[in-house]
Amino acid sequence: MKNMIRIANLVFLGLMMQSCTYSQSSSNKDVNTMDNTVKKENNPVYSHHDTSKVEISDQEWQKLLPKDVYNVARLKGTERPWSSKFEKSKEIGTYYCAVCGNPLFKSDTKFDSGCGWPSFYEPISKTGIIYAEDNSYGMERTEVMCARCKSHLGHVFNDGPPPTGLRFCINGVVLDFEKAKETEKKYQEQHKQS
Ligand SMILES: [Zn+2]
Repeated sequence: MKNMIRIANLVFLGLMMQSCTYSQSSSNKDVNTMDNTVKKENNPVYSHHDTSKVEISDQEWQKLLPKDVYNVARLKGTERPWSSKFEKSKEIGTYYCAVCGNPLFKSDTKFDSGCGWPSFYEPISKTGIIYAEDNSYGMERTEVMCARCKSHLGHVFNDGPPPTGLRFCINGVVLDFEKAKETEKKYQEQHKQS
């Protein structure tokens, strides 16, 4: 009988370890590859071209978005400074809203602000972004949100470089980046298929 219990315990432990390894490897994959394809496939509103407004309940967002994206985008959280791979990135391409795919910033308007978050001096379109007064934490700031899905992106300040003098300080976790060449390649592939 004792042996039976021991075996049952071993099997149980084995299962536990297996599930741990599994969750570990899947979360590593998310971090390492920024698995946007998975994120986009699970997200029915994600599009780089659709401009229609997105109205989704908080419950739905919670199901659709990775936790770190949800915390910043829907709960107005802030990612740790210097934690985003986009902060220092000089790659040429387009930054999209990671929640709905709305094009937000071009890499040629990105600059090194040294503030710890990806910074831009101008959005792609004036209508792609909405602004709100933010007096939280005893500060007077202007919050920046995606105009399509109303996700929190970051803040805008008046100490940016010319020509706008603005500094859009954006949480990297709510940005998706696509290299210019990849965009081109995708476009060609789509046209081959159709
Ligand atoms: Zn959005």
